[in-house]
Amino acid sequence: MQDPGRLIILSGPSGAGKSTVVRELIATCPLPLELSVSATTRAARTGEIDGREYHFVSSEEFAAMRGRGEFLECKEVFGRHWYGTPVAQVDEGLRAGKWMILEIDVQGALSVMEQRRDALSFFVHPGTREELEKRLRRRGTDDEASIQRRLEVAEVELTALSCYQFEIINRQVDLAVEEICRWLKQNAEGAKHA
Ligand code: 5GP
Repeated sequence: MQDPGRLIILSGPSGAGKSTVVRELIATCPLPLELSVSATTRAARTGEIDGREYHFVSSEEFAAMRGRGEFLECKEVFGRHWYGTPVAQVDEGLRAGKWMILEIDVQGALSVMEQRRDALSFFVHPGTREELEKRLRRRGTDDEASIQRRLEVAEVELTALSCYQFEIINRQVDLAVEEICRWLKQNAEGAKHA
């Protein structure tokens, strides 16, 4: 019989290096990992491709998808744009034995934790506010107001840390990735022997 898939939630402040961690995790961890591609109303950044980083949709399309119940969760992030996890893609992946990764904000994560009690949850952060600020500036994708807003949201998000099963301090990407992969493999072993 097909091994069941698992749902993995990964959150953390914007600028914590989550996307890099997820990319490296999928490339190196020997489990059938797949990233769930969210829908968003924000515009694509340079280098982002529709259907790869996100499904970029208009506000009208997003509202219609929401109305049809197509999201496992959806939230307005940073009070500006909507983001949602397409439930069909996630459940198809799980049925096919995939370990589906949701890279989503804290509000969305808390909602998924309530609905899917067996989800594994990771909170990735860079350790200190100073380090986070440095990374947001280095990334160069946000203006000053947006950086300040992201730092404020990060402080609020940190208060939800205790709701997650695993805290990962991302000082060095390869080490953070190894740590997550180790936890996931342990979980896979545990499930086999349960
Ligand atoms: P960005 O615009 O920088 O790609 O993402 C902004 C924030 O939205 C990140 O914290 C990211 O994790 C979150 N996010 C991305 N997709 C989703 C989603 O489907 N649902 C929720 N709740 N948050 C999301």
